[in-house]
Amino acid sequence: MLYFIFTTGRCNLQCKYCGGSFPNYLVPWNVKYSVNDLVKFIEGDEKPIIAFYGGEPLLNPKFIVEVMERLPRAKYVIQTNGVLINNLEEKIWRRFNTVLLSIDGRRRITDYYRGTGIYDKVLEAAKYLKNIGFSGDLIARMTVSEESDIYLEVKHLLDLNLFDHIHWQ
Ligand code: SF4
Repeated sequence: MLYFIFTTGRCNLQCKYCGGSFPNYLVPWNVKYSVNDLVKFIEGDEKPIIAFYGGEPLLNPKFIVEVMERLPRAKYVIQTNGVLINNLEEKIWRRFNTVLLSIDGRRRITDYYRGTGIYDKVLEAAKYLKNIGFSGDLIARMTVSEESDIYLEVKHLLDLNLFDHIHWQ
């Protein structure tokens, strides 16, 4: 089974189409249950896939590492904006099966929606993952909005030759 696990409702960005962190009362900024309880809930599953989600999941790296240590047989996925890529150690990154990096296409479009300089940070993160030997599925996770040209944004990301797949929404 695929489990989406919110590590925090907090985010370090304020993208135009999202607005940033969830209110704490809607999606708590801290995990409200113990890792023990989570392990008990999942450990009977023979083929668990765990996807870390947020907010920005890398704002809670300690929780991510603890879950991965306690459930070593699971497959792991993370969806991140990529800015805080150094919050996890290299060996943890190599343990992921899939990493989704949020990027909206060309620099102008990504920076318009996600903030100045974010395009470059995401590409740095993608290159970093390749350089440290991450061999899983690296997915560009696009949000398409009014300023996007779907053909140009997808083609741009394909031409970078960094991503294994492009996903848009
Ligand atoms: S990185 Fe994701 S969660 Fe954070 S503001 Fe942007 S769209 Fe929202």
